[in-house]
Amino acid sequence: MLKIYNTLTRKKEIFRFSKNKTIKMYVCGPTVYDFSHIGHGRTYIAFDVIARYLRYSGYKVFYLQNITDIDDKIINRANEEKIDPKILAKRFEKEYLKDTKTLGIKSVNKYSGATQNIREIISQIQRLIKKNYAYEKNGNVYFDITKFKDYGQLSHQSLNQLKKAVRIEPDASKAHSFDFLLWKAKKSGEPFWPSPWGPGRPGWHIEDTAIAERYLGLQYDIHCGALDLIFPHHESEIAQAEAISGKKPFVRFWLHTGFLLVNGEKMSKSSGNFITIREILKNYSPQAFRFLILSHHYRSPIDYQESLMKQAESSLERVSEFLEKIKKTKNKKQKTRARIEALLIKTRKKFFQAMDDDFNAPRAIAEIFNLIKTINPMAGNLEKKEAKIILDFFKETDSVLGVMPLRKTGQIPDMVLKLAKEREKLRKEGKFEKADKIRQKIFEQGYEIEDTPKGPQIKFKKIYGRTRSPTRH
Ligand SMILES: [Zn+2]
Repeated sequence: MLKIYNTLTRKKEIFRFSKNKTIKMYVCGPTVYDFSHIGHGRTYIAFDVIARYLRYSGYKVFYLQNITDIDDKIINRANEEKIDPKILAKRFEKEYLKDTKTLGIKSVNKYSGATQNIREIISQIQRLIKKNYAYEKNGNVYFDITKFKDYGQLSHQSLNQLKKAVRIEPDASKAHSFDFLLWKAKKSGEPFWPSPWGPGRPGWHIEDTAIAERYLGLQYDIHCGALDLIFPHHESEIAQAEAISGKKPFVRFWLHTGFLLVNGEKMSKSSGNFITIREILKNYSPQAFRFLILSHHYRSPIDYQESLMKQAESSLERVSEFLEKIKKTKNKKQKTRARIEALLIKTRKKFFQAMDDDFNAPRAIAEIFNLIKTINPMAGNLEKKEAKIILDFFKETDSVLGVMPLRKTGQIPDMVLKLAKEREKLRKEGKFEKADKIRQKIFEQGYEIEDTPKGPQIKFKKIYGRTRSPTRH
């Protein structure tokens, strides 16, 4: 029985949902003005695993993610670089999608940018004005916060408490200081779209409800994002959607990822501890980063330190060694089959139980490591069938986690074998410098050569420490 912590009720609730229907899931995507940082990585990996697990459990899921491709940050950055904001946004949208691909995030059904939904955004604002929840002033349109009595339901605070929590810039054109922008009148040099209120661009909160309405409707099942989006972003989304539809709740389950700190501090460009996904992947594998993220519960904070990446790598190395050992099978019939089958059944059950308990990936991973520990003394002495069911178990659970060093293990591509032969020939001829160059080439393909008394052995190295330089001979 799947239980999910719901920010709206502040409780773990049983997720009751028909497996014949499709779960409509929405995740707040990035504002594309720069390379994504590891905090983004954390959020998108966490929700990737949640979507994968829901599907693994037999649910149908439609996962929608927006991309904020028009925003003050984009305009400011484009002005700094003296380029068109649309070009800047397009460039970083591409980089973002490249990162998600590298990180194995493959559960999203649809990405949709704010600028592809201007018509939907304008339509929602028109309906809000018509229903008296919004007003226009000097080409700006605001949501009138005093009209929506339930504002604050997600952050569990009253409007007065929320007012104290944030500093609001004085703005003479607003009726109440707390009203938020739905449509922003054009300023010179900024991108704009025509609207019933004159040229301008959408506010931030309205893009999410407009995009969601287009693909999911005005009520749906799961809305996710990082913890710092609860207020004012998600709170404002609820106000917009429930004001338009007149129906509650806008969303059944609200899920939020915990913060990612760097050495105990909030990540910021000014303090110099801002780490992009790209930077991490220069020195570590994407699987190791995923492993680090998933070894923390998605709601818990992560205090990032480089040592955690090294730990993640060595954990994966242990798995890799185990899987290699498993493959060295004996032809003789072993007496361990029943025991191994029982172990796998038990671990599988515990894996499910952990994930069913608010997607507890760290506990699910711990169960897999317990299994490795128990089987390890028998590994190397298993029969083929036993090795196969163990590998199948790893493949199955990894369809949810996406971290294990499963691909390519044991199979060395012909190209690498050819290079290894060439290197051996050069070494025998005493051309060590040339041989070293080929060794580097092999390394770049993700393999390492170890010279043993039995001759050179090729080992798969790509998934961990892929940029570590090989030791030279
Ligand atoms: Zn959003």
